[in-house]
Amino acid sequence: MQADKYGIRGILRTLNIEEINHGATTGTEWFKTRGEALTSYSPADGSAIATVNQATWDDYELVMAKATDAFRTWRMVPAPKRGEIVRQIGNRLREYKEPLGSLVSYEMGKIYQEGLGEVQEMIDIADYAVGLSRQLYGFTMHSERERHRMYDQYHPLGVVGVISAFNFPVAVWAWNAMIAMVAGDVVVWKPSSKVMLSAIAVHRIIGSVLEENNVPEGVLNLVAGSSRNIGDDFLADKRIPLISVTGSTRVGRHVSKIVGERLGRTILELGGNNAIIVSQYGNLNMALRASLFGAVATAGQRCTSTRRLLIHDCIFDKFRDKLIEAYKQLKIGHPLDPDTVVGPLVDRDAVKNFLNAQEQIKKEGGRIVYGGQVLVGEGYGSGCYVVPCIAEVENHYKIVQEETFAPILYLIKYKTMDEAIEHHNNVPQGLSSAIFSKNILETERFLSHEGSDCGIANVNIATNGAEIGGAFGGEKDTGGGRESGSDAWKAYMRTSPPNFRWLRV
Ligand code: NAD
Repeated sequence: MQADKYGIRGILRTLNIEEINHGATTGTEWFKTRGEALTSYSPADGSAIATVNQATWDDYELVMAKATDAFRTWRMVPAPKRGEIVRQIGNRLREYKEPLGSLVSYEMGKIYQEGLGEVQEMIDIADYAVGLSRQLYGFTMHSERERHRMYDQYHPLGVVGVISAFNFPVAVWAWNAMIAMVAGDVVVWKPSSKVMLSAIAVHRIIGSVLEENNVPEGVLNLVAGSSRNIGDDFLADKRIPLISVTGSTRVGRHVSKIVGERLGRTILELGGNNAIIVSQYGNLNMALRASLFGAVATAGQRCTSTRRLLIHDCIFDKFRDKLIEAYKQLKIGHPLDPDTVVGPLVDRDAVKNFLNAQEQIKKEGGRIVYGGQVLVGEGYGSGCYVVPCIAEVENHYKIVQEETFAPILYLIKYKTMDEAIEHHNNVPQGLSSAIFSKNILETERFLSHEGSDCGIANVNIATNGAEIGGAFGGEKDTGGGRESGSDAWKAYMRTSPPNFRWLRV
């Protein structure tokens, strides 16, 4: 590790991350994993952070044996008591918010405030799940038969597999695990290989809560292993009734095929291609700030990042020029530096994709109007820092139809709202969307079933970010899954509506 300006060594000590770590736990017990050693390098400065001896299939089998056993005990614990454990997990995460947020930032590359924000989402979903543990409601119905009543019952499902993407190293697990836990399920988490240390840190933090409360081994499990070892066989494992995967559409399709083949259930949270419609009736200063933040936050590596701006013809040039001016002010640098607005991309492969996409844009007739370079020189030694890019394009370009997971913002003109909505929906993905307009006819239409076809539709705020209270997810190639709030918890349970006959005695 280079000069420890940001106190990384102390952060790793606080989080109990050692030089070499084991990749599998069933709660408090850590297995001596002997899989291939994988060192995690920070995209911030290229330093080796620490190494993980990855979990093998044998380790997975040990974990699964504990998990299936633990389910039998855990499902019998009353839901509010399960909620009490979740409450304590939320509180323990509060205590470790700064060091965990820092590790997330250093290992993944998102800026410190976003690292903190991610841990806050874990805390928020824990709070939400505590309340939910007393509200796993079902309806009662009138039966067509005499002296019968019917009602919904929600039962726990079993072992829930959670596969998470690199860009939310810890929050995605919490969105799933906190809800699954109060639902009476047990969780086996396979994190992204790019950010395994953050996952290990989470399990180190929550292990103390599990121990203090005598939670059986096997309720919250981690298997940090490569997809070569813990991949398709994990997906095909019939002991797992539900697999929740957050990742690219390509991987989601693969997961869906294998889990579908055995008639298992999935929650698919996949790629987005999110657009903002900037109407001539909008507050353009607001739209400008939101577009900027939507496109460059997390260096364009959010599923909800703003990728396309559909701008009315009569304000197009002015809006583009102001946007370019705003991009010029962006401070690009070390993610733990408090002045930084844009951190590095996750690795050099991501940089390659960023550059290839620009080639493709030009080939198809588009024009790069700002940025797109890779930064070199002091502070940029990891080779992962880029200047966010703006390009003028047409919506039908092949490259525009794809999700490039990097800070490239496409500018597209429209003349009528019909055309804007047509462009907006004319991509394979359907995650998040927004319109900036003060014209209620436009905004209502956008929110209606004639408008945005996405899982998330916003008015006068950007596409990125989501509150845990609402169900989160998207349509079409985004996979159709829902996580977090609203009634998303139902996916983690099974219904069994008894028809109950009463008798005169
Ligand atoms: P990815 O698809 O490359 O990998 C996702 C996860 O799947 C990783 O943990 C990976 O190890 C695992 N995986 C791959 N093959 C597997 C297999 N055969 N068996 C089991 N696991 C396997 O995605 P990524 O690069 O980590 O993340 C970026 C992508 O995730 C983007 O497309 C982004 O839009 C998407 N994403 C979506 C959401 C959402 O909520 N919709 C949220 C965050 C990220």
